[in-house]
Amino acid sequence: MNSGKTTPSSNSTQFHTVSHYTFFDGKPRWPENKRDLTYAFQPENQLSDDVKSVFTRAFARWSTVTELTFTMTDSYTDADLRIGFFVGDHGDGEPFDGVLGTLAHAFSPTSGRLHLDGDESWVVSGDVTASSLTTAVDLESVAVHEIGHLLGLGHSSVEDSIMYPTISSRTRKVDLASDDIQGIQELYGANPSYNGSSSTPSAQEGDTSGCGVNTLGSMWVLSGMLVSGFGLLWLS
Ligand SMILES: [Zn+2]
Ligand SMILES: [Zn+2]
Repeated sequence: MNSGKTTPSSNSTQFHTVSHYTFFDGKPRWPENKRDLTYAFQPENQLSDDVKSVFTRAFARWSTVTELTFTMTDSYTDADLRIGFFVGDHGDGEPFDGVLGTLAHAFSPTSGRLHLDGDESWVVSGDVTASSLTTAVDLESVAVHEIGHLLGLGHSSVEDSIMYPTISSRTRKVDLASDDIQGIQELYGANPSYNGSSSTPSAQEGDTSGCGVNTLGSMWVLSGMLVSGFGLLWLS
């Protein structure tokens, strides 16, 4: 027989869920007939191929586990996903603020906008952990995280997940955790050719707020601050 252990169900701030990924309010996602998404870069940035390939790799991490595909296009205005580096006030009401502070932000589906603060010390290639700059931020790590937002994921309370709201500077974190995979597959289904262990649909609903993040309307802000010489970046 079972013990009489009781679980308090009121006045509790704990969410008893199996998974810890979240979604935006209303769970917006790219529509059923939109599985092949295009992306383009703000032409004025004149980004190098190295920078563009960082995003290509970041997108591939999400397409590996879903039926989504991502194709680069030169038509910035027509692209589903529009990526750009901006400095200061850039017209969406959320001005960037120079080094650290806000690093990047992305909008929920189907806005498709991903903005990065052009004043950050972005590391495009090479070993970010060996950077002499305490403010060095790995571009691919941030790209993978922000793409998650573009696709409809909020923050996760699982520390190893890409969608976890904090990351240390001079750190590289680009591999999807099983929590990220479960979250994105709940939105878009699994890639039939992906044989990972995380394809089981979850009954979890998206109203948890365990990571204590704030949303600004339908936009998630990625921000960072420097703590005692080793930056702890707060992705809120
Ligand atoms: Zn912006
Ligand atoms: Zn975020």
